[in-house]
Amino acid sequence: MSRTVLVSGASIAGPALAYWLRRHGMTPTVVERAPEPRPGGQTVDLRGAGRTVIERMGLEPAARDRVTHEEGLRFVDARGRVRASFAADALGGDGFVTELELLRGELADLLYQHTRHDAEYVFGDEITALTDTGEGVDVRFRNGSSRNFDLVVLADGLRSRTRDLVFADIARTRSFGLCTAYFTIPRSTSDGRWARWYNAPGRRVVLLRPDNQGTTRATLSFLTPRPGLERLNRPAQQEFLCRHYSGAGWETPRVLDEMVRAPDFYFESVGQMRLERWSRGRIAVVGDAAYCASPLSGMGTSLALVGAYVLAGELGRQHDHDDAFHAYETLMRPYVEQAQKVSWLAPRLAAPKTRAGIRLLTAAARVATRPGAGRIAARFTNPPSDAIDLPAYPPAGQGGARGACGGSSTPG
Ligand SMILES: Cc1cc2nc3c(=O)[nH]c(=O)nc-3n(C[C@H](O)[C@H](O)[C@H](O)COP(=O)(O)OP(=O)(O)OC[C@H]3O[C@@H](n4cnc5c(N)ncnc54)[C@H](O)[C@@H]3O)c2cc1C
Repeated sequence: MSRTVLVSGASIAGPALAYWLRRHGMTPTVVERAPEPRPGGQTVDLRGAGRTVIERMGLEPAARDRVTHEEGLRFVDARGRVRASFAADALGGDGFVTELELLRGELADLLYQHTRHDAEYVFGDEITALTDTGEGVDVRFRNGSSRNFDLVVLADGLRSRTRDLVFADIARTRSFGLCTAYFTIPRSTSDGRWARWYNAPGRRVVLLRPDNQGTTRATLSFLTPRPGLERLNRPAQQEFLCRHYSGAGWETPRVLDEMVRAPDFYFESVGQMRLERWSRGRIAVVGDAAYCASPLSGMGTSLALVGAYVLAGELGRQHDHDDAFHAYETLMRPYVEQAQKVSWLAPRLAAPKTRAGIRLLTAAARVATRPGAGRIAARFTNPPSDAIDLPAYPPAGQGGARGACGGSSTPG
């Protein structure tokens, strides 16, 4: 009998976990609230240990086939003039734009396609109640059904409601007062192969990035003291954005115009998740649901991939799930804490309030592009993506995985 594990969430952490659970002889079921894999999002980068996990999954060639081929990042002014440029190979290929950038939706799809035949996927449903009986977990689903699993892992993102069923008393969200909207718009002749970053006064940023699908990924980021925007419905959020970005200049009118028609509008209040512990009994958390570091860290995808790898690896090699959860947390905590060291100042420096502040920012960016200054700039732009020694976990059948009670293993 192999351990049965229910995973909630099918974005990055969930399917990656399903893959490694299977490799270690367990039986994963993934439940995702959305009716199908969600396609949206900007580019995410694969670097450091996150990239190593993708390599160990044998997915690096497929990931390479899907890179966005962005040539770098340019700071532009209201007239579209380039104020500073960071080529993709600047800072050793590990700066603002890395060598292995792909769309979040493409990475999620890659992971889903790679696991869909080895894991049971249930779309359009979600967990509504969890009871840890000591022998297993009784799970109730929105569709009215109930099932029992040996273990449950929540991989359902920063705003996870299922996490609140188990960890509400020890979960703390750190907010940056920063909101972001992501969406896809038609490509225009001005878009090219470079990402373009535009600052408007009033702490407003517009970022346009080319993708590999003939369209452009737009991001609107702004600092606001107003709480709760992420809870508004989509038309209300878009109405707010139209008002807030009115008069921002550059290509903003085109972006706002297309936003209303965007098929994949996604709005979030940028935050981090601080959870005192990542498991209780037979229920654990992974990825953003456990330790979201925010897009400001550039580490969300790496943490999700590495967390999934370590958690499944420890479950594979430890007889007792308590020991496995403990080892997972011991290994991952320092890596997560480093990634979460994002200064409250970071979004304020990147989105100045005044024109003078914007001039200062672009002047600093220009200095950072100079030879020699690159190493200093890298200290600020390069997150500690390698700061973990990834154990090698033998797959099931090679002395690694155990069954439900630590018994015989099933080859993955
Ligand atoms: C649509 C989308 C777009 C994104 N765009 C960007 C981006 O542009 N830039 C960036 O840095 N990060 C983005 N992210 C976040 C990024 O994917 C994560 O920071 C990181 O990759 C870690 O992934 P995760 O799998 O832990 O969490 P997430 O990627 O947040 O995935 C959580 C998954 O759980 C599902 N879910 C939520 N609640 C439930 C529930 N109750 N039951 C079952 N399933 C549930 C969600 O639909 C989602 O598929 C985006 C996430 C999503 C879902």
